[in-house]
Amino acid sequence: MAREFKTVGVVGLGTMGAGIVEVFARNGVDVVAVEVDGAALDKGRANLTASTDRAVARGKLDPADRDALHARVTFAVGLDALRDVDLAVEAVPERLDLKRRLLAELDRVCPPGAVLATNTSSLSVTEIAVATERPGQVIGLHFFNPAPVMRLIEVISTVVTAPEVARDVRALCGRLGKVGVSVTDRAGFIANALLFGYLNQAIGMYEAGYASREDIDAAMQQGHGLPMGPLTLLDLIGLDTAYQVLETMYQRGGHDRRHAAAPLLRQMVTAGLLGRKSGQGFYTYQAPGSSRLAPDDLTPVAGAEAGEPAPRTVGVVGSGTVATDVAEVLTAAGVDVVAVADPGGVPAAGPGDQAVRDLAAVDLVVVAGPSTAPVIDVAMATGRPADVVGLHFVGGPAAQARLVEVVRTVRTSPTAVRAARQLCAALGRTAVTCGDRAGFIADALLLPYLNDAVRMLESNYSTADDIDAAMKLGCGYPAGPFELLDTVGLDVALAIQTAIHRELPEPGLAPAPLLRNLVTAGRLGRRTGGGFRDHAG
Ligand code: NAD
Repeated sequence: MAREFKTVGVVGLGTMGAGIVEVFARNGVDVVAVEVDGAALDKGRANLTASTDRAVARGKLDPADRDALHARVTFAVGLDALRDVDLAVEAVPERLDLKRRLLAELDRVCPPGAVLATNTSSLSVTEIAVATERPGQVIGLHFFNPAPVMRLIEVISTVVTAPEVARDVRALCGRLGKVGVSVTDRAGFIANALLFGYLNQAIGMYEAGYASREDIDAAMQQGHGLPMGPLTLLDLIGLDTAYQVLETMYQRGGHDRRHAAAPLLRQMVTAGLLGRKSGQGFYTYQAPGSSRLAPDDLTPVAGAEAGEPAPRTVGVVGSGTVATDVAEVLTAAGVDVVAVADPGGVPAAGPGDQAVRDLAAVDLVVVAGPSTAPVIDVAMATGRPADVVGLHFVGGPAAQARLVEVVRTVRTSPTAVRAARQLCAALGRTAVTCGDRAGFIADALLLPYLNDAVRMLESNYSTADDIDAAMKLGCGYPAGPFELLDTVGLDVALAIQTAIHRELPEPGLAPAPLLRNLVTAGRLGRRTGGGFRDHAG
C-alpha cells in the first residue's frame, strides 16, 4: 500500500509555492508553509487568500471548504517548522547553489523518513539530491503554473531515487486530483523542454520587430487555440524564472540555440521587469501580482482601423484550394474578386504581362498561398508590389479560420497593410501583421515545437502518449503534438519545417529524421489511416 503523506512542508511561497500549498490543503493534507522572512510570508499568505477567494467568487469552492483549507495551513519563517513533516517540497528560485543548500538544510531538519522534493523546472534533480545524506528519498515534483488548475505533475526519479518513493509520490499525485507522469532527470523534463524553445523564439520575434506583442499572442491563442499567447505566458511564469530555465536548458541540453535566451529577456530581468509578479513584463499590469492590464497598456488595435473603408475590389493571386477558399470568403462578404493564377514567382513583371493587366483596377492584391512560399516572389510578378499583401488563414480552411495573418513584404505599403486589416475586420476575422518569412507567425512558432516533440520521441526519452498528455495537462494545449501532427498531416508539417530550416539553417531547426522517414513511408497522418498513431476508418 502506498504511504500516506499527512503533513507536507512547502518552502518558498512565490508564483508556484502558494499554489502548491493550495493544492495540498484543498485535498485534505496539512501544510506547513515556509518563507525567508515576515514580509515574504505575508505576501505568500495574501497570494493564497486571493486565489481561494477567486475560486469562491467563481463558484468553484464552497466558503466553508475555503475556511477548512486555510485551517490546514500553518505559516512560519525558517525551516525549523518542518521538524514533523512527511514530505517537504521546495519552490525557491531556480538556482542550483540555493537549492542544494536548502536541500542540505532540509535533510538536517526533517525527520529521517521524510521525502524531500524539488519543484525545479530544469535543474539536475540528481545534483540537488546528492547535496543530502538521503539521495534515495529525493525526487522531482514538478507542478505546472497555475498549480491549482494544471493537472500534470512530472515526477522525476534520478538514478538513485528509491522505486517505492517514486511509487508513493505518484499515488499522492492521484490523491491531489493530478496526473503524475514519470520521467528521468533530463533538462526541462518533457513539457518545459518543448515549451521554452517556443517561448524564447516568440521573444526573438518581438525583439526583432517582426510582429507586435499583441499579434504574436493572438496568432497562437486564436490561430492555434492555445490558452494564452507566449508573451502573456512568460509574464505569468515570471521572466527571471524563464531566464534561469533557458540558461540551464542551454547548458544542460547541448547548447541548442533554441534555448539561448533572447538578449531582450536578460535585459528585462536586469531592469526588474519580471512579469505579473512585479507589475510589468511584456505587458503592464494594474498592480504587482495582478492579472489585469493597466488601462494605458491596452493598445487599441481594432480602433486603429475603424473609419477606414475596406477595399471593395480585391485581386486574389494563387492557385489551388487555398486561393479558391479565400476568394469564396471574400465574395460571400460582398467583395468583388479578381482571381489571377499564380504567375509563378517571376520577378520583374512588365506592363504587358497578363497578371499585371488583370490586377490593374483592384484596390488591394492578396497572395493566397501556403506559409512556405515567400509572398515577395509573387508580389514582384504582379507589377504592383506596394499593393500586395499575403493573407494566411490560420487554424483550418478560410471559411472556418478565426485568424488571418496579413503578411507585409519589404515592398508592401502601410496603406495596403491597413486596407488588408480592414478587409479582415469586414470578414469578421482577427488580423495580425507580420513580415514575410517561412511560417509567418503561427506556423513559425508551432512547427519547430512539433519538430522538437518528434526529436524527443526519437530519443526514446518518453512516449507519444506521455508527451501529448504533458502538453495538454501541463500547458492546457487543446491537443498534444502528435495528435496535432496526425491531424495537420506529416507531409504538410515536414514541408513547412523544411522551409523554415532552409531560411534559417540551424541544426535545432532541421526536420527530425523520424518525421522524414514516416513521410517517405507514406504514413501522413489521419488521412492515410496512420501517422504517429494508427487511425481506423
Ligand atoms: P518566485 O520567485 O515567484 O518565488 C520564489 C519564492 O521563494 C519567493 O517568495 C522567495 O521569497 C522564496 N525563497 C527564496 N529563498 C528562500 C528560502 N531560503 N527559504 C524559503 N523561501 C525562500 O519563483 P517561482 O516562479 O515560484 O519558482 C519557484 C520554483 O518553481 C523554481 O524552481 C521554478 O523553476 C519552479 N517552477 C516555476 C514555474 C513558473 O511558472 N513560475 C512553473 C513550474 C515550476
